Amino acid sequence: MNRRTRGASTAPVECSQCGASDAIQIELTVSDEQTILFNSCHRCEHRWWMSDGSAIDITGVLDLVRKT
Ligand SMILES: [Zn+2]
Repeated sequence: MNRRTRGASTAPVECSQCGASDAIQIELTVSDEQTILFNSCHRCEHRWWMSDGSAIDITGVLDLVRKT
């Protein structure tokens, strides 16, 4: 069995600020149908959020969390 468990994997991503390729991405489930991606760069400590393939800011994240 070599299946990935949903939500349990992290993948390296490129930092949108400094271009480092070792930023991490963590999937967070905020409701039954909605997941958001939290990204964090080790190099410049830039942190950002993604939802449905586009960047959202922290107020958007809080909106999604409050809706549940
Ligand atoms: Zn960075």
